[in-house]
Amino acid sequence: TPATIQQRLSRLNPRQQEAVRYIDGPCLVLAGAGSGKTSVITTKIAYLVQACGMSARRIAAVTFTNKAAREMKERVGSMLKGKEGHGLTVSTFHTLGLNIIRRELKALGYKAGFSLFDPEDAKALLRDLMQKDAQVDAEAINSVQQQISAWKNDLILPGQAMSHAADDDELFAARVYEAYNRHLKAYNAVDFDDLILLPVVLLRDDPEALARWRKRIHYMLVDEYQDTNVSQYQLVQLLMGERQTFTVVGDDDQSIYAWRGARPENLVTLGEDFPRLQVVKLEQNYRSTGTILRAANTLISNNPHVYEKTLWSEMGEGAPIRVVVNRHEEAEAERVASEILTRRIKERAEWRDFAVLYRGNFQARLLELKLQHYQVPYKLSGGTSFFSRNEIKDAMAYLRLLINPADDNAFLRIVNVPRREIGPGTLEKLANYATERGISLFAACHELGLEQQLPVRAVERLGRFTHFIDGVRRRMDQGDAIAAIRDMLREMDYEAWLYQNASAPTIAERRMANVWILIDQLEKSMQADPEESSASEETETDSVEAAISRLVLRDILEQQAEEDDSDRVQLLTMHASKGLEFPHVYLMGLEEELLPHRNAIEAGTVEEERRLAYVGITRARRTLTLTLARQRKAYGELMDCAPSRFLDELPAEDLEWEGRPDREDPEKKQARGKDAIAGLRSLLG
Ligand code: ATP
Ligand code: MG
Repeated sequence: TPATIQQRLSRLNPRQQEAVRYIDGPCLVLAGAGSGKTSVITTKIAYLVQACGMSARRIAAVTFTNKAAREMKERVGSMLKGKEGHGLTVSTFHTLGLNIIRRELKALGYKAGFSLFDPEDAKALLRDLMQKDAQVDAEAINSVQQQISAWKNDLILPGQAMSHAADDDELFAARVYEAYNRHLKAYNAVDFDDLILLPVVLLRDDPEALARWRKRIHYMLVDEYQDTNVSQYQLVQLLMGERQTFTVVGDDDQSIYAWRGARPENLVTLGEDFPRLQVVKLEQNYRSTGTILRAANTLISNNPHVYEKTLWSEMGEGAPIRVVVNRHEEAEAERVASEILTRRIKERAEWRDFAVLYRGNFQARLLELKLQHYQVPYKLSGGTSFFSRNEIKDAMAYLRLLINPADDNAFLRIVNVPRREIGPGTLEKLANYATERGISLFAACHELGLEQQLPVRAVERLGRFTHFIDGVRRRMDQGDAIAAIRDMLREMDYEAWLYQNASAPTIAERRMANVWILIDQLEKSMQADPEESSASEETETDSVEAAISRLVLRDILEQQAEEDDSDRVQLLTMHASKGLEFPHVYLMGLEEELLPHRNAIEAGTVEEERRLAYVGITRARRTLTLTLARQRKAYGELMDCAPSRFLDELPAEDLEWEGRPDREDPEKKQARGKDAIAGLRSLLG
C-alpha cells in the first residue's frame, strides 16, 4: 500500500516539513544542491491534494527542462492515487505558456492551428526581413536574433525597444523586431520566447483573461527558481499576485541561464515584492559523499555570495575524486567509454547509474562512437544523436548502397542528394517498373526497357547516377576502399550541397566534419577488427563491407534503443543535468576555454561557468571523475589545452591525478603549441 501523506511528511527533515506545511502565503526555499528542494515540491503537491483537499486541477508546478518535468511528474504520480492527480499541471514554463496560448487564441488575436517556429524557422524569417535592404551575413542575423530574444525575455515590446534604442545598431534591430513580430502574426505563428511573453502580456492587459486563469490555478510551485527571467517571474506574479499562494525553490549558486535572460536577483526581488514571504533554508545534503560535497563547496566559495549556505552530509567520505588527463580528445572519449564498460561490473552498477556530462553537445560525438564500439547502451539528451543527423544518414545511405545496390531505401534517400534533378514523377515510374519486374530500383535504372516509359532526359540522369555509383564500387573493389569513398564524397561535392542547405556556413562546416568523422571511424573499424569480418583469407572489400555492415547494425541498434527508456548510460550537457542525480558521474573537458568557456572568459562571466561546474559536480552521488585532454580540435585546428582553473580551486588533498600535466614547464608547452600540424599527423596516426 502506498504511504500516507503523514508518513511521507515524516520522512522529511523538520525544515522541509515546515516548507511543505506552510500554505497560506508565499514561500521560498533557498538551499544548496541535493538538499531536498525538489522533494519539498513533490511532497507539497501530494500534501495540497491529500491533506488540504485541493483539486489537482488547481495546481501548477513548473520547472526548466523537459527531463526534470518528466522526473517530477513520475515522483508525484507515484504519490497520488487514482483520480487524485487528474488535471494536475507539471510542466516546463514553456509548456505552461503554450497551454495558455492554446486556450486564449481568440483573446490573443490568433487563429486556430497556429504554428510554433523553432529557432531555425525564426532565423530564416529574420534573414528574409533583413535582406530586404542589404546583404547581411550570418553573424548579423544571429546577433539580431539574440537581441530580439533578450528583449522578449525582458518583457520589452518593439515599441519600447525602438524608443529606448541606444544607438543605430539597436534601432535597426528594434525595427527588425517590429517587422518580425508583425510577420509572425501574419503567419499565425509564435516563436519560443513568445510562449512566455504572449501569456504575460495577455494577463497583464486583459482583466477577463486574468480572472479566468486565476480561477483556474490556485497554487503554483516553481523549481529551479534562480533561472527564471523577467517574463517568467511576471507570469508567476500575475497568476499568483492576489492570493500569494506559491512555493518557489532555488539555489543562487546554480543559476546558469543568465545568457537566456535569467535573473538570480529574482530571489531578492521576491522578498521585496512579497513582504510576507516565508524563507526556509535547508542545510543537509542527502545526495553526495562528503568528498564530493566538499569539492562543490570549495569551488563555489570562489564566487561572491548573497546568501551564505553551509551544506553537510551524512553519506560518509566516499572515494577521492579522480582527475584523468588524456593525450587528446579521442583518447578522453575512449577512456570514458572503456572505463564505464569495466566499472559497471566492478561496481555492480547498472548502465543507468553512469552519467557523462559535458559543456557542449559537440563533445558527445566522439564519445557516442566509442560507446557504440564497446556496445554500451546510452541515451543522449538534448542535441541530436550522431546517427540521427541528416548528414550522417545521407552518408550511411551511400555506404549502404555501395555494399548493396538493392537497398531501395538507401537509393531513395540519396538519389537526389546532392540534387540531380530526378523528380518524383520519374521515381514513381521507376518504382512501378521495378515492382513489375521484381528487381531493385538501382537494377531498374540499368534496364533498357525504361526508355519507353520515361523521357530521355530522365533516363540520362538516372544513368549518370548509377554510372557514378558503379564507378565507385569498381574502385572499391580494385584498391583502397576508403580512399574511393572519400573521393566519391568530394566528386559529388556533398560539401557544396551542405552549404546550400545550411542557415550558416559554420553549420555546414560542422556537418561536413561529422561526415569525415564517420569515414575515419569506418577506416579505423576496418583496422581494428580484421578477424571479426571473416576468418578466411580476406580482401580489402570484404572488410569494408563488413565494417559498413557493422556501422549499419549499430545505427539500427541505436534507433531501437531510442525507443525504450530502460537501462542506459546518460549523456547530457551540464545545463541539461540540472536537478538530476546519478551514482557515478563523469565530467569531461575540464580545460581552459571549454570549462570555463572561451566566450565566458572573454566576456568576463567566469562566475557563471563556475556555477555550471558546481551544478555538474553536485549531480554525483558516490563517485566523480573529471577528465581532460591535452589537445583538442577547435576552430578547425588542433590546439593545446590547459587544465581548467577550476581544478586548482578544488581541495588538492581530495584529488587523485592520473597523468598530471607538467605545469612547471612553459617552454615545452610552447614548443608543443608551435607545431599543430605535426600534432595533427600524430593524432591521425
Ligand atoms: P538540486 O539542487 O540538485 O535540484 P534538490 O535540492 O532539489 O537538489 P532533491 O533532488 O530533492 O534535492 O533531493 C536530493 C536527494 O536527496 C534525492 O535522492 C532525495 O530523494 C533525497 N532526499 C531529499 N530529502 C530527503 C530526506 N529528508 N531524507 C532522505 N533523503 C532525502
Ligand atoms: Mg532539485
